[in-house]
Amino acid sequence: MDGITTVGIDMYALAERLFPICRSITGEGVRRSLRILREYLPLEVREVPSGTPVFDWEVPREWNVRQAWIKGPDGKKIVDFQENNLHLLGYSLPVRRRLSLSELKAHLYSLPEQPEVIPYRTSYYQENWGFCLPHRQLESLPEGEYEVLVDSSLEAGSLAYGEYYLPGETEAEVLFSAHICHPSLANDNLSGISLLTFLARELQKAARRYSYRFLFIPGTIGAICWLARNEEKTRLIRHGLVASLLGDPGGFTYKRSRQGNAWIDRAAEHVLKHQGVPCQVIDFTPYGYDERQFCSPGFNLPVGSLTRSPYGSFPEYHTSADNLSFIRPECLGESFDVYRKIIQVLEGNAVYRNLNPRCEPQLGKRGLYDAIGGASDAKARQLALLWVLNLSDGNHSLLDIAERSGYPFGLIQEVSGLLVEAGLLVKVEDV
Ligand code: ZN
Repeated sequence: MDGITTVGIDMYALAERLFPICRSITGEGVRRSLRILREYLPLEVREVPSGTPVFDWEVPREWNVRQAWIKGPDGKKIVDFQENNLHLLGYSLPVRRRLSLSELKAHLYSLPEQPEVIPYRTSYYQENWGFCLPHRQLESLPEGEYEVLVDSSLEAGSLAYGEYYLPGETEAEVLFSAHICHPSLANDNLSGISLLTFLARELQKAARRYSYRFLFIPGTIGAICWLARNEEKTRLIRHGLVASLLGDPGGFTYKRSRQGNAWIDRAAEHVLKHQGVPCQVIDFTPYGYDERQFCSPGFNLPVGSLTRSPYGSFPEYHTSADNLSFIRPECLGESFDVYRKIIQVLEGNAVYRNLNPRCEPQLGKRGLYDAIGGASDAKARQLALLWVLNLSDGNHSLLDIAERSGYPFGLIQEVSGLLVEAGLLVKVEDV
């Protein structure tokens, strides 16, 4: 790991700003979060009215919360939404009533195996109300009469999402998507939101072959909304990644697209292999984040998912322990670096042709030994150069050559540039 980078610190600071906000699949928390993102990126905020049919689904009513608490038999608040928004079951219906401990317990959620943390629970599509609390606290509640208040509203409104489109030289697109529906949870998914925000800012400054689309959408229903409203545009998507869980200190996990051997799958696997950090590559499963929608059979888009520790694999997942001390600036920065390198592969991948294919060209007389002789990795550069010359027969891309030679894409790309300058190589086509 490179240590703490400026971008890692900036990403963490954005996560800190977003952390206290109560987000859900709809509601003011999402809009407030998108307004903060608009300070960083000129993204469009789209609103889809409740009741809008989107494929087999319907946009739900909008949920907002003013306050929610439980008062104990002594009249003191024992659970308060103001202190931690995870205390309230997401999409809880409004309620104000007095009830016994056993009646109350039917609406309480805890994690017996992790008694100190508050679990994150929602009930989007089944009407309910409830509170989440540490199991230790639940077990210590005395008998008596309790009072609960959920001052929420579930009414016709709209679902908001953010979209930022950055045009490039071609209409062909790279899609990045992060879910924005989780309340005070840091790794899942403020890390993904922060990473995409700063990735978009970096791409704004760069020359771009591809156009880039960044989606900040509520999980599942947001992706379904976007796909339903943009079915035509999906034919332009050449590569895509779903970004989440990018701030924890665990190794990386790349989950392949449903296609399994798309360029994004190969690019991500290649970059991770050369990153020098623990990583695993797993096949597509129809479970997880919004790759489920992008890779549904009717779309089958080349969209993978790149996280650090995968969902559900660490004890902090979907609990109050997924907080700002669980994510680290240096881990965010390293994740950013991996995403940046994957883009470098996608942008730079091309097929070249060796203009001197009959026997090896004499490199010395063209100054190519001199050009690379002084470098500390001279041997690797020399071999990379020979690989590029040998495989640039019009059929192999730079990524093909990188994979076959075992050298990182960046080196293969760099020596290709030297060979082009020397008149030994010509680009046939971008990939
Ligand atoms: Zn989640």
